[in-house]
Amino acid sequence: MTLPDAPPASLRLRIDTAALADNWRTMDRLSGSATAGAAVKANGYGLGIDFVMPALLGAGARNFFVAHWSEVAGVLAYTAGETIAVLHGVADEQEAAYARATGAVPVINSLPQARLWLQSGGGRCHLMVDSGINRLGVEPGNLGDPVLEKLEIDTLMSHLASADEESAQNARQLAVFREAASRLPAKRLSLGNSAGIMLGEDYHFDLTRPGLALYGGVPRSELAGLIRQVAHVESAVLQLRDLSPGDAVGYNAVWHAERPTRAATLALGYADGILRAWGKAGAVQHEGHGLPIIGKVSMDMIIVDCTGTNLAEGDFCNLSYDLPQASALTGLSQYELLTLLGNRFDRTTQIA
Ligand SMILES: *Cc1c(COP(=O)(O)O)cnc(C)c1O
Repeated sequence: MTLPDAPPASLRLRIDTAALADNWRTMDRLSGSATAGAAVKANGYGLGIDFVMPALLGAGARNFFVAHWSEVAGVLAYTAGETIAVLHGVADEQEAAYARATGAVPVINSLPQARLWLQSGGGRCHLMVDSGINRLGVEPGNLGDPVLEKLEIDTLMSHLASADEESAQNARQLAVFREAASRLPAKRLSLGNSAGIMLGEDYHFDLTRPGLALYGGVPRSELAGLIRQVAHVESAVLQLRDLSPGDAVGYNAVWHAERPTRAATLALGYADGILRAWGKAGAVQHEGHGLPIIGKVSMDMIIVDCTGTNLAEGDFCNLSYDLPQASALTGLSQYELLTLLGNRFDRTTQIA
């Protein structure tokens, strides 16, 4: 059976690919003599790999980072395997075989991973040293192991835990990474994520790995004003109604009208990543009016107070997705706000 085209979505995620490209160029420039790569894991931080990859390639990015092997195919549609680094490394022979078949490069994270990679034939790889995040990577105490000397290390990397803060941990991790770099031969060194780039040139080395800032995130105040918003969330009005004083709105009747109120029901909810945390103080915008979210966020709907506006059914409203602001409002991290965005959005590029 051939289905007709689906009707236009009532939920849109506009991805400003020009802003994304600008943000990459900004992070590349701020990386000084280092080249900026791009973390595109988690479907391009939730925005959609098919929007993100062409924009990043067009801007000049040539080094891409994903977490899982399942993410390789989506990136491989745009670039050669050798430019894709897989952060989780190789856990078994199947993953090693997949690495060989695709050309994507494993980030070796442990001595067992190093042995597995060598046994499966070896070749170019990256190596992650754990300099203090205690998450993934070879521990500094194991760097003398002879198996590591057999690796053909392209990029030696480590990951900062607290680069978004003024933390003494940053300098400690830098020292551990420098020590690791002095012990292992590698073509390139890579330490800084988005926030790490802003810690200064000591943290730049050869290759930086921004993610969040490319997609509009501002992890450090130095980046405010330099990074453009990329994700814009819009939803249509499903229904309008007039409430009388005392009328309750939404599940568990946590909101009551105190005066005659015009309410609009919009087609987005927590299944789309707009979690209940938005209900506390969130608002959508329509033609310059701020329309406060009232009552609990539902799975597929939110309700807003649109008293005094000429909002009509079918109109689109904008949920402000300025990431630092939305993070302050909801208590969700900027990373969570991006990667939560669900599959029901019609992802489109910005219409000029
Ligand atoms: C996700 C990730 C990055 C990107 O970090 P941002 O804070 O998003 O810039 C860089 N390196 C590693 C190892 C990562 O896992």
